Amino acid sequence: MATKAVMEEAEKLREKIRHYSYLYYVLDQPAIQDYEFDQLYRRLVQMEQQHPEIITPDSPTQRVGGKASGDFPKVTFRKPMLSLSNVFNPEEIKAFDQRVKNGLPGESVSYITELKIDGLSMNLIYKDGVLIQGLTRGDGHVGEDVTANVRTIRSIPLKLSGAPSYMEIRGEVFMPRKSFIALNGERDEAGLMPFANCRNAAAGSLRQLDPRVTASRNLDFFAYAVGDVEGMKIHSQEELLETLKKFQFKVNPHYKKWDSIEDVISGVLEWQEKRHTLDYDTDGMVIKVNNFEQQSRLGATVKDPKWATAYKYPPEEAETKIRHIAVTLGRTGVLTPSADVDPVRLAGTTVKRATLHNMDFIRGKDIRVGDTVRIYKAGEIIPEIDRVILEKRTGAEQIFNMPDTCPVCGSPVHRIKGEAAYRCTNRQCGGVIREKLIHFASRGAMSIDGMGPAVVDNMIAFRLVSDPSDLYSLTADQLAQMERMGEKSAVKLTASIDASRSRGLPKLLYALGIRYVGEKAARILAEHFGSLDALMKAEEEELLLVEGIGPAIVSSLISYFKEKSSQELIQKLKEKGVLTEIPQEEKITDKAGVFAGEKVVLTGKLSSMGRREAAELIIGEGGEIMSAVTNGTTLVIAGEDPGSKLEKARARGIHIIEENEFLKRAGVRAAHS
Ligand code: NAD
Repeated sequence: MATKAVMEEAEKLREKIRHYSYLYYVLDQPAIQDYEFDQLYRRLVQMEQQHPEIITPDSPTQRVGGKASGDFPKVTFRKPMLSLSNVFNPEEIKAFDQRVKNGLPGESVSYITELKIDGLSMNLIYKDGVLIQGLTRGDGHVGEDVTANVRTIRSIPLKLSGAPSYMEIRGEVFMPRKSFIALNGERDEAGLMPFANCRNAAAGSLRQLDPRVTASRNLDFFAYAVGDVEGMKIHSQEELLETLKKFQFKVNPHYKKWDSIEDVISGVLEWQEKRHTLDYDTDGMVIKVNNFEQQSRLGATVKDPKWATAYKYPPEEAETKIRHIAVTLGRTGVLTPSADVDPVRLAGTTVKRATLHNMDFIRGKDIRVGDTVRIYKAGEIIPEIDRVILEKRTGAEQIFNMPDTCPVCGSPVHRIKGEAAYRCTNRQCGGVIREKLIHFASRGAMSIDGMGPAVVDNMIAFRLVSDPSDLYSLTADQLAQMERMGEKSAVKLTASIDASRSRGLPKLLYALGIRYVGEKAARILAEHFGSLDALMKAEEEELLLVEGIGPAIVSSLISYFKEKSSQELIQKLKEKGVLTEIPQEEKITDKAGVFAGEKVVLTGKLSSMGRREAAELIIGEGGEIMSAVTNGTTLVIAGEDPGSKLEKARARGIHIIEENEFLKRAGVRAAHS
């Protein structure tokens, strides 16, 4: 019999797990790292295994983690959506293999390994090939109906050709790292709390009440399973993945079949490091018995299938000490605190600074100067503080307060009600002007070569510019007066400023630095309205109807265009000959094709056509073919056995699509034209 102490400890663990699950699944704001959560969970499982009499029906071990929130209609699944058991080392993988073999005495077993995508699971219901419902996993038995939001995810087919009468496709909705980093950047500028990781950002984006917000978040989907199916028989996981590809779902390409558990282990370990080069988050590798008939004989517990398990990679974390909290100014005047930490190696780089986002973040985690902290990289890139190690506090740590005055111009700083951000109140603040100019000239915006931060500082110091329109009346002589600026460089810089006049509306709109208007939103708006004048005249209702433009962007645009200073800036830019419409050549190509404006690299073998044919198709659809991956590449199409180009593209965060997605894009066009 379990002692009172054991029962109490188990109950405490349950309470903790429930609390953290609520923060994670319902609020999308985890308070601890997944690995730590998994250890708490595992401790509870072990206690319950040793003392089965203490198991309560409401124990977290007896149900699938999440909960359907009250915001969406609830739908009961025909077949439950289970979770996965976890393993943490090769011995545990072997023990899993042993359990499988015990359940299938004398039979040979092959396994499929798949990357475990760190997103949230989704059940898509297709009736006669048409998508009719998209459901979150909820508690595994009852999910939430988020169909309208699911329809905004471009890689989810709305119609399947050759599908049976009823089919549930299951897979993972995720947010690519690049989108996650851009989204958190926008949230910082807007004074909102950032998402802790790609998974929470994806979950938060999918459970939006307004599908336009979801549409603006760049979610993606990998399919890997089926639920209930009528009118089709599939025999193995391998066959299933092939079938999903045929239905034009995106299937993660890194799955593999193995005949021995030793090979599975080597395959799993191989990805431990390699996964950092992917452009989406993975938290492990899923190991599945390949044969469906064997799977059904093995069965499931209340929570997890017995024929699969997830190997969880250890978290990449490091311990360091906060020496100082610095405050920098963003282009919308937001003061952003960040921690200068003792240099420490983390996931391949030396980290010296970690973002702290805003005061709510600092207070929420009770971060103080002098604290010893655990840090990790959010989206594999941005160093973030996970938690303070309270046991290492000495009492000498200092509480940080946001300065009352702007660190650049000394004007008062204030906090807008309902926002986490503090802003400089001075519209003419040199720091804000600096950030605005740097952004205006940056790549993706007006791309003015030779106008980096040091040159901007110089321009301000020499009182040559106070807003972006001033750039267009600068002469080479004026620029040459600046420090460290030779005559030749000055001439070059004026030429690149001059060239930027004709970048066109999508770039200009982004360059203006309007809150929430990132590159994607700028392009959508530019394409919809065609000119800055038309956009400025648009009423709120009209803006709200634009697909991919959410209410936050709309209200930000309206308040930006209402400002006298914005109107004056735009007027001055026009007077100086800056193009405020879509460039003529883009108008033609945009209408002409789905790959318009894309600089495409093909790698690997395509099964449906030769390279030349593919290249012709892309060019015919307005794209440009490049032979190598460079910074200018915007899209990589990866066929079978892709070469080093794929790795290169990943390292640079370039958008990569597989053959089925490529065909879908090209095909959709052909079907409509
Ligand atoms: P899980 O994430 O451990 O594994 C199951 C899920 O894996 C599936 O439901 C599916 O969504 C996903 N998956 C991804 N790729 C897959 C593939 N190729 N094949 C099959 N499934 C695949 O389990 P869970 O129940 O979704 O959630 C538990 C996770 O949530 C744990 O990792 C836990 O650490 C985390 N969590 C963290 C906190 C926290 O506070 N940090 C709180 C609660 C839960």
